[in-house]
Amino acid sequence: MVGDGTRCVHAGRVGEVAGEALHAGPVLAAAYHLGPPDGDLPVDFYGRSANPTWRALEAAIGELDGGHTVLYPSGMAAVSALLRLLARPGAAVVLPADGYYLARALAAEELAPLGVEVREVPTPGPWPDSVFDGATLVLLETPSNPGLDVCDIAALAARAHAAGALLAVDNTTATPLGQRPLELGADVVVASDSKALSGHSDLILGHLSCADPELAGRLATTRNRGGAVPGPFETWLAHRGLGTLDLRLARQAANAAALATALREHPGALGVRWPGLADDPSFEVASRQMRRFGGVLSFELPSAAAVSRFLAASTLVASATSFGGLRSSADRRERWGDQVGPGFVRLSAGCEDTDDLTADVLKALDLALDPVLDPKLDPRTER
Ligand SMILES: *Cc1c(COP(=O)(O)O)cnc(C)c1O
Repeated sequence: MVGDGTRCVHAGRVGEVAGEALHAGPVLAAAYHLGPPDGDLPVDFYGRSANPTWRALEAAIGELDGGHTVLYPSGMAAVSALLRLLARPGAAVVLPADGYYLARALAAEELAPLGVEVREVPTPGPWPDSVFDGATLVLLETPSNPGLDVCDIAALAARAHAAGALLAVDNTTATPLGQRPLELGADVVVASDSKALSGHSDLILGHLSCADPELAGRLATTRNRGGAVPGPFETWLAHRGLGTLDLRLARQAANAAALATALREHPGALGVRWPGLADDPSFEVASRQMRRFGGVLSFELPSAAAVSRFLAASTLVASATSFGGLRSSADRRERWGDQVGPGFVRLSAGCEDTDDLTADVLKALDLALDPVLDPKLDPRTER
């Protein structure tokens, strides 16, 4: 078994042919030559059903996830395809109450009116048996976004299976190098590849990876009928970015660890969360089921205005949503309707040098919280 770096660099590599590119370019084709009109159809005949660029990235992610991968044009398209395939009128789907907000909105506003019972459970639980009764699908998000709580995938998969439900894990934050849900007993991995997996903040893409090839086949069929398919160019860019996932995650996690530790010491940053902190509420389960703790951390400043000042004062941290990119970024999540306080910040540590990033963040925090800038603001008391 080779290491993560080797796996990422070589994932999805196809046969070597003299004179052909080391990393083949995107195949931008709608129609392909069919050969004789009465012969067997070639594998590629029309770009919506299959194409070599998808196949290469699906093979690559499938190797890393340990399953059968189907690509989608966005993470939400992947979430939506899974929910639409498995939700049934009169049956229940279980979603994380603290998970990605659009997945919950989709279930509440588009599936519930069709007679699907939508149950929301906070990631840390409690998880009573009644949650699983009559469910067809249990979707976990661990670590959850943006709260960074975790839950025990293996234990919840066993309980979902006992109740006859499939268990899916949104693995966007962890990536396949950080966590391998299929090995822990999950049936499906759901992910947005717009984040760390592709890693350059320059494309939107998603995937589902299934333990069961038959389920992956059904998803590929409904993808073709639904018609929302990823573009080969984005697919190719994501495959190129995937090659450096191991390197990027190593730096991002080192940066997140340094920032979490430094922010802990800062009186103005409260409630610092990173699953890799030894006394974080997520640490015990995370250290059992995760292979790496990732580059995303969260903390709370006294007010929305303090977050604005922090982002204006930082030269390295961009004010941006999304996460997992080369460049550090931070997002005030309350603006998106997440159930968090107005000063809650999700920070995505990028690939800058650790000392530079830590110094920049601490300086920006000092400026943001300087009582001289705002005499009414006492970072220790104002909440
Ligand atoms: C971003 C994200 C999604 C949605 O992915 P898109 O590619 O933006 O559609 C789903 N789940 C999680 C946890 C995310 O962070």
